[in-house]
This record gives sequence, C-alpha cells and structure tokens, in this order.
Amino acid sequence: MSTIAAISTPVYQGGLAVIRMSGENALPIADSIFVGKTMPSEMAGYTCGYGKIVREGRTLDDVILTVFRAPHSYTGEDTVEISCHGGVYLAREVLKLIIEHGAEPAPAGEFTKRAFLSGKLSLTQAEGVLDIISANGERELVSARAMRDGNLSKNIHSVAEEMTRISGNLAAWSDYPDEDIPDADTSHLDSDLSNIINRLEHILNSYDKGKILRQGIDTAIVGRPNVGKSTLMNQLLGYKRSIVTENAGTTRDVIEESVRVGDFVLKLSDTAGIRNTTDPVECIGVDLATQRLENAELVLAVFDSSEEFTETDREILEKIKNKPHIVLLNKSDLPEKLDKEYFLDENILSVSANSGSGLEKLPEMIAELFKLGGSSDNAEIYINERQRSQVSKAVGFVKQALAEYRSGITLDAVTVYMDEALNALLELTGERATEAVVNNLFERFCVGK
Ligand code: GDP
Ligand code: MG
Repeated sequence: MSTIAAISTPVYQGGLAVIRMSGENALPIADSIFVGKTMPSEMAGYTCGYGKIVREGRTLDDVILTVFRAPHSYTGEDTVEISCHGGVYLAREVLKLIIEHGAEPAPAGEFTKRAFLSGKLSLTQAEGVLDIISANGERELVSARAMRDGNLSKNIHSVAEEMTRISGNLAAWSDYPDEDIPDADTSHLDSDLSNIINRLEHILNSYDKGKILRQGIDTAIVGRPNVGKSTLMNQLLGYKRSIVTENAGTTRDVIEESVRVGDFVLKLSDTAGIRNTTDPVECIGVDLATQRLENAELVLAVFDSSEEFTETDREILEKIKNKPHIVLLNKSDLPEKLDKEYFLDENILSVSANSGSGLEKLPEMIAELFKLGGSSDNAEIYINERQRSQVSKAVGFVKQALAEYRSGITLDAVTVYMDEALNALLELTGERATEAVVNNLFERFCVGK
C-alpha cells in the first residue's frame, strides 16, 4: 500500500501541529527530510528524536519526530509523527515536503481505515474513534471509549457465535433432509432465539439515549405569564437573550437558543405565557407556546412559588403530565405562597431563576428522566444510526426465524433467516462488510485521522 501523509491537527494557528505519515516508505521519507542525532530508520519504535526538517539545505522548523514500527502502530504500518510549531503555512510546507518525497495525501479517515484493514480495529471500534473525537460530554466520551475498546464488537460477536452454534445444529438436518439423520435437537430453539432477540433489543435500546446526547433535546419552557420563563432562559444561557419585564405578556414570539446543561444540549424555546387573552398578537404567541409544548421532547414547566396556585397552573399541569417534564417552582427567594400539594410529581425543583440557585440539580434530573443513569461511569454504549440499522435488521430476521419455527413447517426457513441475521451482524462489525460500506464509513472521518 502507498505511504500516506496528512496534517492530523486542526489547520489553525496553535501551539503545535502534528503531521503524520504511514506506510512502507514512512521511515525512508523521514530520513530524507529530518536531520537529527539519529536517522528515523535507525530509531526504535515508540521513541522520538529532536531535529530539524530541512528542504534543500534550508531549515523549515525544529521538530520532535516520533517513530512507530509496524505492527505496533495505530495503522499497523510504519508510522512517523512530526510535531512542529503550530503554524498553518509551516505545517503545510512540511506536508508538501513529505509529498514531494513520494507520500500521497491521505484521504479522510485513511489512517483509521488502514487500522481496520490490518485487523487492528473492527468497524464498530473505528466508529468508537469517530465518537471519541465528536464527544461533547462525559457520557458520550465514556460510551465512545467503550466502543473503541471493542465492548460493542465483543457483545455482537458473542451473539453472532451463539447464532452460528444454533445454525450449525440445524445445518446437518436441513442440508441432508432426505438422509437418515436423527432429527435436529430443537428443544431449546425457541428459548435460544428469544434470548438472542432480547440481547439484540437491549443493544438497540441505547440508540435513543445516544441520539439525545448527540443531537440535543428539544426543550420547551412553558408556564403562565410572569412566572420567570424568560429569566430562566437567560439564566441557563448565561446572558440576556429573552426580554424580561414585570409586565405579563412580554414574550410573544418563540425565542430559541441551545445551551449545554451538564452532559446535555438543551435546544431551548422560551414561549409566551399561557393564559386566556383577547390580545390577538398574544393569542398567536399562546398558540405557539401550546404547540411547542406538545412537540417538545422535554418540557420545563415553570410555576411561581410566591403566588397561589391558579386554574391556569392546573391546566398546564394537565397538559404536561404525559410528557417528559420537570416542574420548576421558581422565585424560591421570595416567601412561599404556592400550595405544593398540587404537585404530586417526583420531578420537582425549587429554583430561583434570578440567581440560578437550585438549577445545579437540573442535569441529574434530566439524566434520570431519560434513564441515562445516575452517573456516567456505568459504560453504556450508545449505538449510532448505522449500527442501529444493522442490529434492527438482525432482530427482524431472528424474529422471522422464530416465527417460522413456531409455525412448525420446516427448519430450512429458520436457517435461511438465521444466515441473514448473521450477515447483518458481520456487516456491523466489518467482518463481512462490502467495500462501499467501509468507504462510506471512513469518509465521515477527518483528514489525518
Ligand atoms: P415570563 O413572563 O415567565 O417570561 O417571566 P419573566 O422572566 O419576564 O419574569 C417576570 C418577573 O419575575 C420579572 O420581574 C423577573 O425579574 C421576576 N423573576 C423571575 N425570576 C425570579 C426569581 O427567581 N426571583 C424573583 N424574586 N423574581 C423573579
Ligand atoms: Mg417571557
């Protein structure tokens, strides 16, 4: 395979830039551009040397060069990493020099693709690398690490092995149905297949949680006028985005902003206060608020704890009861007048939107609401769309296999469906993925990864 090279750090000014090259000519090319105490081709793996990158006798930069020797490198090939000063022009010049010496510019994801092709990573592990880079918070990172470490591949692999065992059991029978072979032992088939379905469905369940972490949560802030919705929005954002006044009916349009709250991105909409009004403009605002409430994935319902419970509050409680919601009893800094008996909910937070006090418990509550566990150290793996689609194909086929078996007609069909399910899983881990699937996946990586 050719020797590839790329700038692996972002192409901005920074402290350092790293240029990486991999392939059989990585060391000879390094020899011809690097002047240091030891030639790169004489250096042991996992060692680095200080020296200069020189073009036609002129020094481009002083650098640290690290050598990784096949197969003990990320790609499995000889690899050289050059850390130079973090200038955009400089890093590009170093890369240009390497390419002039025979390396090829690496397409996106090519280093990780080579790691996959050399058997160092499964496809799902490679996707874990992608997730590590895009992780925005602790939960995503823990999941990505577990995926990178192969926990998902191992789990899928063990299901696939179990399926192979079951198919093997049936194969002799279905391959030679006319021979005088004793009937296949099917006494456990029903429970074995059900068990596989359960295991795969368990993996599928993590998709929605991962989606919440990756894509954020559509969150509507609702409540009657003047309870402090806009103040809450501004407090969460950390700056004054929504207009706050003591006049009821100030917010009319829906104001949208995204904010990170702990591990979550809330895609917030601050809405008009819900009340009966004759003002036509406010009326439109109230309709929009109600729509937002209905479509939201999470509702932050704000109530004023310094006032008595009202009929509108009751209507709002009714509207949110079947939606994931958190009740915020606001203005906790003022004397309390609200009768808490009306709130039979477990998801209640007493807060002061003015000062932010009480809001620190919000991330934990959101985590519980979306069943993301109390802490991020129980490494649940959040599968991505490709993985979800493969696992769900596999589940579909195993279910068909089970249905065929239960209908009692023939075991042939069972083995056919089991094979299809197995194919879906092996495509997932990459053991039987087509070139198109592999290329498509690595195109989503950055250049230099
Ligand atoms: P909205 O109509 O629900 O958007 O309410 P606003 O955010 O516009 O706030 C209405 C009034 O309540 C303003 O005068 C705010 O300063 C006040 N307010 C909001 N939050 C608090 C709070 O936590 N404590 C106190 N004392 N006043 C608050
Ligand atoms: Mg408002």
